[in-house]
Amino acid sequence: MSDRGAPDEPTETGYAVELRDVVKRYPSGGGEPVVALDGVDFAVRPGEFVAVVGPSGSGKSTLLNVLGLLDDPTAGRRLLDGTDVTNLSVAGRTRARKESIGFVFQDFHLLPTLTAVENVAMPTAFDPGDATDRAADLLGRFGLGDRLDHEPTELSGGQKQRVAIARALINEPAVLLADEPTGNLDTETGEAILGEFERVKAEGVAVVAVTHDPLVEEYADRVVDLTDGVLTGGLPDGLGSETRSEPNRERDARRIARGDG
Ligand code: ADP
Repeated sequence: MSDRGAPDEPTETGYAVELRDVVKRYPSGGGEPVVALDGVDFAVRPGEFVAVVGPSGSGKSTLLNVLGLLDDPTAGRRLLDGTDVTNLSVAGRTRARKESIGFVFQDFHLLPTLTAVENVAMPTAFDPGDATDRAADLLGRFGLGDRLDHEPTELSGGQKQRVAIARALINEPAVLLADEPTGNLDTETGEAILGEFERVKAEGVAVVAVTHDPLVEEYADRVVDLTDGVLTGGLPDGLGSETRSEPNRERDARRIARGDG
């Protein structure tokens, strides 16, 4: 696992990932654009587990996609592991994503014809060297050392989720992003998965989970609320206040201009 960013070893900005006054607008067929993220300030420390809650349509997927470099903000800045990654080329973005981000998708997204160990090693397929040993180590850590050669259909939901988490960690990311990580799991299995997240964060990885599950909120260090693209509680206490005042002024000005501030 990564030795980067142990909890007491902050990156340059102190955050593993950071959004400053991020706006995401989607064009909507001739009408007013949809504002999916409305001046979002968000920062997560290494080794912190943040749950993002909010109603459907509030911008949670957009937030994950922007955090995970799958989509770019319309305005604002994005920093990853202390580096500004707001305006990267496609190649730069792909590289940064691969080096620093792990994704755990809803419904796992495992490849059905690959074994557990092959699924975990898959993100390294085009890299020099063989990651099979590392993948096997990771699976061993997650209690799946005896399931290396099983295909996804031969695994339970909780086991599949563990394989998905191991795959997300194969490149030693600074940030682990999870979309409804306990969504399709029973309570006991969900708790086991959240226990895995606790171990991951203890190694300095920043974990962000979008969720509707109160259990995830129980395990999280911080719960932030996203409603109509406005994030509440996005910054950890006592950090980042110097970056907070200006973006919020801009956002307040936009709200007042729209007549809802
Ligand atoms: P959530 O994940 O909380 O359900 P989303 O991030 O999916 O919310 O969506 C936030 C808002 O942005 C919604 O109003 C949605 O309709 C809109 N939206 C999301 N993706 C697109 C897109 N590609 N094009 C246009 N509008 C979109």
